[in-house]
Amino acid sequence: MSGRIPQHFIDDLITRSDIAEVIGARVRLKKAGREFKACCPFHDEKTPSFTVSPTKQFYHCFGCGAHGTALGFLMEYEGLGFIEAVEELAGLVGMEVPREGGGDAPVRPRAESYATLAEAAAFFSQKLKNSTVAVDYLKERGLSGEIALEFGIGYAPDSWEGLGGSVGATPEARRHLLDTGMLKPRKGGEGCYDMFRHRVMFPIRDPRGRVIAFGGRALGDGEPKYMNSPESPLFHKGRELYGLYEARKALRDISTLLVVEGYMDVVGLAQHGIRNAVATLGTACTEAHLDRLFRIAENVVFCFDGDRAGRKAAWRALENALPGMREGRRIDFLFLPEGHDPDSLVREEGTERFSSRIESQAIPLSEYLVRELSAQTDLDSVDGRARFVELARPLVERLPEGVYREMLIDRIGQSVRMEPSRLRALLGGARRAPAKPRRPSRRRMSTGRGNLVRQAIALLLHYPQIAAQVETPTGLEAVDQAGIDVLARLLAQLRENPGLSTAALLERWRDDPVGTHLATLAASEPLVEEEGAVEELRNSLLHLVAREATRRRADELMSKARETALSDAEKLELQRLLRERGGSGEAAEQGSTL
Ligand SMILES: [Zn+2]
Repeated sequence: MSGRIPQHFIDDLITRSDIAEVIGARVRLKKAGREFKACCPFHDEKTPSFTVSPTKQFYHCFGCGAHGTALGFLMEYEGLGFIEAVEELAGLVGMEVPREGGGDAPVRPRAESYATLAEAAAFFSQKLKNSTVAVDYLKERGLSGEIALEFGIGYAPDSWEGLGGSVGATPEARRHLLDTGMLKPRKGGEGCYDMFRHRVMFPIRDPRGRVIAFGGRALGDGEPKYMNSPESPLFHKGRELYGLYEARKALRDISTLLVVEGYMDVVGLAQHGIRNAVATLGTACTEAHLDRLFRIAENVVFCFDGDRAGRKAAWRALENALPGMREGRRIDFLFLPEGHDPDSLVREEGTERFSSRIESQAIPLSEYLVRELSAQTDLDSVDGRARFVELARPLVERLPEGVYREMLIDRIGQSVRMEPSRLRALLGGARRAPAKPRRPSRRRMSTGRGNLVRQAIALLLHYPQIAAQVETPTGLEAVDQAGIDVLARLLAQLRENPGLSTAALLERWRDDPVGTHLATLAASEPLVEEEGAVEELRNSLLHLVAREATRRRADELMSKARETALSDAEKLELQRLLRERGGSGEAAEQGSTL
């Protein structure tokens, strides 16, 4: 990975691109007043509740709540990571993505690397036609010409200068082939040689269908049996999934994705009409993989060989999956009979029986977890059950708080025959006891109506340009109310960058937990029209500061009253202050949480 993308570039990018154009190229938009409407691409609907606002450069669905900027849209819709989405959008508006701090990879025009790899893929599939060994291998595995063509399967000839001598004939192309690991520099000598030789080649495509790397299966007794392109500016193993592009092309709606271990499994299943299989590329399934999978389907089924290696890989997948487990996500595990992989099994028993295996034999993640831990402990003894709880603790701790975690604790309770509440104290206790230092104003943006902080934040999100016309009153940052730091930061961001649009502003909060709250606020209906917005913001800020002064003075008088008698004037003042404080109805709200 090269260096970070500078913030000002993201600002520029959001300002220069047009969200209506980005979305309009992918979804049919209809003009509706100042906005556009469409049937939501993220949920099934007949009447359009998906709106795109060119002023805010922001989309929002009133049906499913999906929302975001042009970058967010590309990430969701195309299944891209943040960097990829930035590159995609930059390509659309003709900007070159700069990197801060240099980074370790030289920045070369990506488009040319993609083109070179596409040429490499064409070279390999051309070579396949003349290789009886490779064709025989594919035939023997039961693959048809159609599937080979669809997946772009090819053959790397048994030569040190096959690809290099042909596609890599020009210095530029050679450079791109080196960058992407297709060629290797000769040790000590000059020139370079082909990395893949005498192998069946599987192009690895990104979510947009561009070839970004290759996987090669050795023919004969070449070592290693399977080999992938190394990491490159185009290819990150921890993110890419083989077959995902092809699955999305073959199927309109995918509710379940099957994760298998190798490209032959993906292709073999596709040959038998099972089109929803994908494979990781020589790594365990990562959180980034899962995020990508769950953007497309709500169920993921891991399919593992029944041998020891398969079981080990399954357990690693479980551990990696835990932090991302939440409602609406379902992960099952399917173990195949020993000695089989999905490819060999589907060839032996056919599509129907293989599919029904998934239905009847896949077990939910929670069951798998309990089963594995049970196998390691003796649940009939007290010691064994205690050991079980000890083993479960670090796993439960990896789960985010929520319904899923509670359900798993209940399930463990059944196994160890323990009251859920006692178990919760044992399992969850360790996590809650040292109570992370609370950052009170974070994530505690009160939802109460008439909450001034929230109101001011909403105004800034709806009309970012008004920040320049309103002075920040002294003492604002000292106001003891939830969300005040967020408000102050927004004001500062807009002061420093007066031209920021709503979308550009939201992009600055992408990695902050408060970011989603801000996006929800940005999508809410504005309380005032633009004309009244400056006045409204000014009043809100002044009010916040004045109220804080009232509160402080009241506290001061009250603590004085505890030590000595107040003068009559002070008593009157305190009464008045308390009336003001209570009257605003917001004193009680101060402690409320979002
Ligand atoms: Zn929707």
